[in-house]
Amino acid sequence: GSDIGSQKDRVVTEAEWLQKWEMGNIGFHKEQGHPLLRKYLDVLLNGRSGLRIFFPLCGKAVEMKWLADMGHYIVGVEVSEKALKEFFAEHGVPYHEEPVPEISGAKKLQSTSGNISLYCCNIYDLSSSIVDQFDGAWDRGALVAVNPCDRQRYVNLMITLMKKNSSYLLATVSYDPNKHKGPPFYVPESEIKSLFGNHCEIKCLEKVDDFSDRHRQWGLDYFLEVLYILKFL
Ligand code: SAH
Repeated sequence: GSDIGSQKDRVVTEAEWLQKWEMGNIGFHKEQGHPLLRKYLDVLLNGRSGLRIFFPLCGKAVEMKWLADMGHYIVGVEVSEKALKEFFAEHGVPYHEEPVPEISGAKKLQSTSGNISLYCCNIYDLSSSIVDQFDGAWDRGALVAVNPCDRQRYVNLMITLMKKNSSYLLATVSYDPNKHKGPPFYVPESEIKSLFGNHCEIKCLEKVDDFSDRHRQWGLDYFLEVLYILKFL
């Protein structure tokens, strides 16, 4: 059993996420991109070019622009349209919008050059018949943002979206879950293994101290980022 304590029943609604974006309450966004993706890019790409790379719960992650500029094809999903519009605006990338026939109310925002496709909808509305399968994924602020009660559902979906032999870089966080309610939620290594273990080889690449004033204000006294590489079998 895992020691996630009181977090297991916590639910953050879609409306609460939309409100965070409306209020500009987005302390999770990294303007300079994520140093761990830079460092482990080769582990994700494995020398391959022109990959289809998935960004679940993408926000306006600047890493999508990095990888697109390297010639990869990016697909993201995010419930906040504001986040997606800010992404295109902040990078000066022209785009167009179209409905997604399979998902009522969903929109796809796609760069004019076609290499970045961002779905504005709930991730649970996606399926491989809509977005096809991926060669790689960058999961940061995604599994750890999913409500704990939905983790298995989220992982089951991810498993259907990843090709055989694909690489999935997963960044999680570690802190005392009795001192902060999340998100981000604490996902112990034992749980990563039970969620993904039957479908992947899992390797922990690095644990880095990421403690900052923000975490101190949450009442924490340590905060680690833990990076895994998952290889789909
Ligand atoms: N991965 C991004 C954003 C992390 S915050 C980054 O690293 O910066 C989590 C994001 O997921 C928020 O932008 C939130 O609006 C979005 N989100 C939460 N639940 C979602 C869901 N069920 N479907 C799609 N997006 C969701």
